Amino acid sequence: MERQLTLMVVHAHPDDECLSTGGILARYSEEGIRTVLVTCTNGEQGDGAGGVKPGDPGHDDAAVAVQRLGELRESVAHLGVEHLELLGYRDSGMEGWEANAHPEAFANVPLEESAGRLAELMERYRPQVVVTYDETGGGGYGHPDHVRAHDITVAAVERTGIPDKLYHTAIPRAAIKRMFELMRANGVDFGDELPSDDFGTPPTRR
Ligand SMILES: [Zn+2]
Repeated sequence: MERQLTLMVVHAHPDDECLSTGGILARYSEEGIRTVLVTCTNGEQGDGAGGVKPGDPGHDDAAVAVQRLGELRESVAHLGVEHLELLGYRDSGMEGWEANAHPEAFANVPLEESAGRLAELMERYRPQVVVTYDETGGGGYGHPDHVRAHDITVAAVERTGIPDKLYHTAIPRAAIKRMFELMRANGVDFGDELPSDDFGTPPTRR
């Protein structure tokens, strides 16, 4: 039997699929290539309704997960992704957050186990191409779940030997700067959440 052309993209949280790979998922889905999105966590550590921050009173982890997984399903429909696979791990939160210590947080799950589950999906779909973040979680982002998504992907690729190619996403620093300028020009208020100058992939690593 001929092996179906398949692209598998591995992400940490609901919404990450758009931030760095929305374009390729939409394009290759459109071209009739089978697309598989693996989302590792439920995104519990995102902002709640009304902008309530994780750890603050009124932040409901379970409700945030339900909302973000709902948004993910809509996103996947827009992008034309054929298969959405949820690993269902708990969001570890940003580096240094209290949530990092949760024993069920994705970054704390033994690599053998999480990489094993991803390897099973590679066995099932047999993708020729797999895409995930670089070893810094994507241009120096450093989020523990993004770094972990990279680690389990590399481990699963090595274990199965199935994909012909493994790509890491890169967003040039200049593009990130430009994106924030455009958002600001369009009235988006970031408060104190502006990215630092070294966020993004340095031009020397293209
Ligand atoms: Zn993320």
